[in-house]
Amino acid sequence: MAGAAGFSYVGLNNQEIPGNLGKKASRQGLVLRFKPYELELRHVFTIATSSRKTTPVMLTEIEYDGVTGYGEASMPPYLGESHETVHNFLSKVNLAQFNNPFLMEEILDYVEQIAPGNYAAKASVDIALHDLTGKMLKQPWFRIWGLNPEKAPFTSFTIGMDTPEVVRKKVEEASPYKILKVKLGMDNDKEMIETIRSVSKTPLCVDVNQGWKERKMALDMIYWLKDKGVVFIEQPMPKNMVDDIAWLTQNSPLPVIADESVQTFQDVKKVLGVYSGINIKLMKCGGMRSAFRMVNTARALNLKVMIGCMTETSCAVSAAAQLSPMVDWADLDGNLLISNDIYDGVTVEGGKLMLPERPGIGIVRKV
Ligand code: MG
Repeated sequence: MAGAAGFSYVGLNNQEIPGNLGKKASRQGLVLRFKPYELELRHVFTIATSSRKTTPVMLTEIEYDGVTGYGEASMPPYLGESHETVHNFLSKVNLAQFNNPFLMEEILDYVEQIAPGNYAAKASVDIALHDLTGKMLKQPWFRIWGLNPEKAPFTSFTIGMDTPEVVRKKVEEASPYKILKVKLGMDNDKEMIETIRSVSKTPLCVDVNQGWKERKMALDMIYWLKDKGVVFIEQPMPKNMVDDIAWLTQNSPLPVIADESVQTFQDVKKVLGVYSGINIKLMKCGGMRSAFRMVNTARALNLKVMIGCMTETSCAVSAAAQLSPMVDWADLDGNLLISNDIYDGVTVEGGKLMLPERPGIGIVRKV
C-alpha cells in the first residue's frame, strides 16, 4: 500500500488503444489515472451493523491539455466495493476516446453503461471530470450551478458509539458544531443520548442505520428523542420494511429521512409516501451529476434533502459541498474523521461549511 508520498498512478489510458481512435486520439484525449489509498480514522467507527478503523479509497486524476482534475472513490466495506472492484472498473474506462472534457453528459453516460452498480468507482470519474472542467472554466462548481455559497448550511458532526466516557470526550471535542449526528440502533440508545445531554445542549440528528425492528417501539423512541432536542431521524428501520416505515413517517413528530433506502436518481420517487426526505451521497449515486439531479427531483416532489458522505478525503467531501447551498441539512464531516487527508478543501467555521473560492471542486493537494 503506497502512502501519500511517491504518488504514482496506474495510467491505463496512456496505452495505445486499438481500434477506431487513431494515433492522435490516445495522445490528445482525456487521461485517467488512479491509485489505491487507505484512510486512517481518528476513532474506531461503530454503527449498528459494523465497526472499523480504516476505509479504503481510490484516488483518481483526469488530465487534459495540461490541467488535472482530482476525484475519489470511498469504499466502506458494507457497500460491496473494494480496491479490487474499483481497480477492475476503472481499468475498463477508456477516456482517451474523448477529446472534449465539456461533453460531460456523453462521457458520464459512457461511464455509466460500462457495468451496472460500481457507484463509488463511477463517482471517482465524475468528480475528477467536474474538477477538471471547473478548473478549465476557472470557476467553482457552486458558481457554475448558480448557487450562493453563503447559503451553505451547518454540517453535522458524527459522534460514534462508544463508552460513556469516550462519548463525553468526543462531544466536548465537537463543541464548535451546531448540530451533532448520533448513531443509534444498538441496545443502549437512551443511554447514548443521556450521555451526550450530560455535557451538551447542541441539537442532535439521529441515524439508526436500519437498527430498529418494530414500528411502535420506533415511534415511542422518536417521541422521546424529540423531547431530547433531536431534529430528524435517518433510516430508522430496515429498508425492506416499507409499510412500517411509511406508518412511522406518517405518525412521526420528526422528519424521517431515507439513506440506505435510496441509492440513485431512479430511487427518489420510491420514497414518496414512505419518507419525509432523502440523504444523497456521491458514493451511492455515482457522483455530482447524479446528485444534482437527485436534489432537483426531490425538490419537485416536495421532499427534504440532506447531503452526506462516507469517510473520505477533502476531495469527495468538497465535491459534495458544492451542492450544499441547495440542501436542508449537510452531514459532510467525513474528512474531519480521518488523520491522513492529502487535500485542503472545504472547511468548517463555527460549524458552517465554507466553500473555498477555488475553481472546480475547490481543493489543493497538501503533499
Ligand atoms: Mg446514514
